[in-house]
Amino acid sequence: MIDSTTSDMIPNSFVFDLHSDIATDVSLRRARGERKVFQRIFCDRLRAGGVQGLISVLWVEPQYRQRSPERLLQLLGSLLSDVEESSDCVQIVTDAKALANTIRQGKIGLFLGVEGMTFIEQWPLLELPRESDEGLYERFRQPLSVLGKAGLRHAMLTWNEQNQLASGSDSANAPRVVAEGLTPFGREVTRELHRRGIAIDVSHLDDTSIDGVLEEVDGTIIASHSNARTLCEVPRNLSDRHILEIGRRGGVVGINAYAGFIDSVRPTLDRYIDHIVYVAERIGIDHVAFGFDFTDYLETQELWHTAEPEQRLERVEDVPRLLRRLTERGFSKQEIDKLSYVNTLRVMGKL
Ligand SMILES: [Zn+2]
Repeated sequence: MIDSTTSDMIPNSFVFDLHSDIATDVSLRRARGERKVFQRIFCDRLRAGGVQGLISVLWVEPQYRQRSPERLLQLLGSLLSDVEESSDCVQIVTDAKALANTIRQGKIGLFLGVEGMTFIEQWPLLELPRESDEGLYERFRQPLSVLGKAGLRHAMLTWNEQNQLASGSDSANAPRVVAEGLTPFGREVTRELHRRGIAIDVSHLDDTSIDGVLEEVDGTIIASHSNARTLCEVPRNLSDRHILEIGRRGGVVGINAYAGFIDSVRPTLDRYIDHIVYVAERIGIDHVAFGFDFTDYLETQELWHTAEPEQRLERVEDVPRLLRRLTERGFSKQEIDKLSYVNTLRVMGKL
């Protein structure tokens, strides 16, 4: 919980981003020989946006689908190395109190997450038959132990693909590997994540798999970077039914700034705020946050060019503009604080 002690420890308001792909960019830059990427580039950029807390995910790109444990470890290694070298300005944190301390020291705090767990399928087991009971157990036990030691606090079972755990929001367009939804193996992994107090994130799952997760755990779940499907009808956005259930369980929905999930024709900053308003009207402002998913960390640009410059929300430097616009649209300071960090600290604190 964010108790009074924790909130007293936070000197100023700050912004928490529930979904950041920075680790991908860090890894690509380090592969080109760059060092101290956080210290040289991202710490200043994040501070310019007022963003001092992130869920930083390890995401295995589709081209590494057949070598996912290798790519996962590479992403993890490059992130941890860079954070170590940039320790003057950034730190991995594992709970709300550590985040508050980090911020008090003027540093940026990262919660470590994984965006998809396909690496579990291929985890190297040199001596065990992969499909034996022992093999299945070791395949999730070993990576979760490794990632746990590194500070893992957040997990998505899939990205858009289907894997042996569950089906992602785009898997209807791909050949099915197993039956749709959360598999028996995926159920076991979900229970283990819950047992370890790792935030279970349903953002990339398809509707059937979200139902499976809701059946399997009765606690808080989150959707770190998804919008309202009623306002923008894409499979990656949430149905009203799932929004209501996340709210009922005390979770949080992080509103995504990816243009194609805001509005398929005319994404704007105001339309982004409409998603905040819509979700808040259904489950209350206490269950809404920001999960920006800025794609400029991935060196791709898309739909935002259709919006006027003052109506864009495409990079971290645009966040202060969002906060100003929220004020103009009638959000109080207290409500903006809830969206910015209070709700997230509450949820991360009670897992
Ligand atoms: Zn994503």
